[in-house]
Amino acid sequence: MLTIHSWHDLTAFNTLAMPAKAQFFAELSDLNDLPELLDFIAKQDLPSLWIGGGSNLVLADEVPGCVVHIATKGIEIQSDSEESVLIKVAAGESWHGLVTHCIENGWYGLENLALIPGSVGASPVQNIGAYGVEVADLIDQVEVFDTLSNTFDVMQKADCQFAYRDSLFKRNPGRFIITSVRFNLSKQFEAKCSYAALQGWLDAQGIKELSAQAIFDAVVAVRQSKLPNPEVLPNAGSFFKNPVVSNDCFEGLRQIYPEIPNYPDASGVKLAAGWLIDQCGWKGLYRERVGVHKDQALVIVNHAGGSRQDIDELADDIKQSVFNRFSVRLEQEPIAYP
Ligand code: FAD
Ligand code: NAP
Repeated sequence: MLTIHSWHDLTAFNTLAMPAKAQFFAELSDLNDLPELLDFIAKQDLPSLWIGGGSNLVLADEVPGCVVHIATKGIEIQSDSEESVLIKVAAGESWHGLVTHCIENGWYGLENLALIPGSVGASPVQNIGAYGVEVADLIDQVEVFDTLSNTFDVMQKADCQFAYRDSLFKRNPGRFIITSVRFNLSKQFEAKCSYAALQGWLDAQGIKELSAQAIFDAVVAVRQSKLPNPEVLPNAGSFFKNPVVSNDCFEGLRQIYPEIPNYPDASGVKLAAGWLIDQCGWKGLYRERVGVHKDQALVIVNHAGGSRQDIDELADDIKQSVFNRFSVRLEQEPIAYP
C-alpha cells in the first residue's frame, strides 16, 4: 500500500547523512502503485526525486516536492544458454547483493564492481565503474517510465548514451524513472585485473589461479582497506570525477610534475583527481563538521552534523585550489539536489 509522508527525515536515505527533510516522501515497493504516485505528483504539480540508496547524492536541508525511494525487488532469468544468461533485475535490488548473487550462480562480468553501494536502478545513471569495468559493458536494456511522454519504454544499450561516469539518464535529471535493468552475463569467466591495487592484493595472497570469487574477494578487501564505510563515516564515495585533459595540457603538466599519474583515454589523458587533491594538501583535512578522508583525498566525509553548505564550501575550496595549482577544473560527481 502506498503511503505518502510529509516533511520526512532523509538522514537514513543518503550516505552523506545530510539532515534533509522531504516535503513529501513515499516508498515504492510495488510498480502497480506507480500510476497513483505519478497522479499525486502531477495533481500537486510537484518536482520529484527518485532515489535508491542515496549514495551519490548531496541533499539540501529542505527538499521540495516528492522524494520516492524505489524499493521494488526481483531477479528474473529471461534467457539461459550454455554461454550466457540474460537477467532482468528490479530497480530496487541492492547492487552488491546482485553481484554476489551472480557469482554464486556462475554468471560472470560484474565481479570488479563488488561493494559499490546503492541500487540496481541507479547503476546506469552514472554508468558505475571500478577497476576497469563499467556497468554499460554488461547492460543489454533498461526499462524506464518516461515522464515526458508519460509512457513506459524499453531502451536498448545504444540508446542510453553511456560514457565515463555518465549517461542519458544523468544528463536529463528527473525525466526517466528506471524500473529495471537487463544484464547480459557470460558463463565463461574472464579475469580483468589491470589495476595495480587488485593485482597487488592477488599477488600478496599468492593467488595464481584466478576465479570470479578471487577477483570479488580482492575488490572487497582493497576497497575495505582504503574507503570509509558510510555507515561508520558518512560519505558519497569519490566526490569528483577524474578529469580528462588534452594531450597538450597533459604534456605541459608532465614537464612540471614528471610523476603525475596518467592513463590514456579515448578523448585525451585521464588524470587521477585524488592525486591532484592530495598534492594540494587536502588529505585528512578536518573542518568543524566535514573533512577529507585521511586515506583517500577524493572522498569528502561528514564527521558530525555537516550541512549542505559545509559540503559545498569545502568542495568549492578544493576545486579552486586544484585549479590554481594545475589549471585543471574538477567536476563534482555526486548529484546536488536541488
Ligand atoms: P542514489 O544516490 O539514490 O541516486 C543517484 C542518482 O540516480 C540520483 O540522481 C537519483 O535520482 C538517480 N536514481 C536513483 N535510482 C533511480 C532510478 N531507479 N531511476 C532513475 N533515477 C534514479 N560509484 C561508482 O561508479 N563506482 C564506485 O566504485 C563507487 N564507489 C562508491 C563507494 C562509496 C563508499 C560510496 C558512498 C559511493 C560510491 N559510488 C561509486 C557512488 C554510488 O554508490 C553509485 O553512483 C551508485 O550507483 C548510486 O546508487 P544509489 O542507489 O545510492 O543512487
Ligand atoms: P586507485 O586504484 O587508487 O587509482 C586512482 C585512479 O587512477 C582511479 O580513479 C582510476 O581511474 C585510475 N587508474 C588506476 N589504475 C588504472 C588503470 N590501470 N587504468 C585506468 N585507470 C586507472 O583508485 P581508488 O580510488 O582506490 O578506486 C579504485 C576503483 O574504484 C576505481 O576504478 C574507482 O573509480 C572506483 N571507485 C569509485 C568511487 C566513486 O564514488 N565513483 C569510489 C571508490 C572507488 P577510474 O576511477 O577511472 O577507474
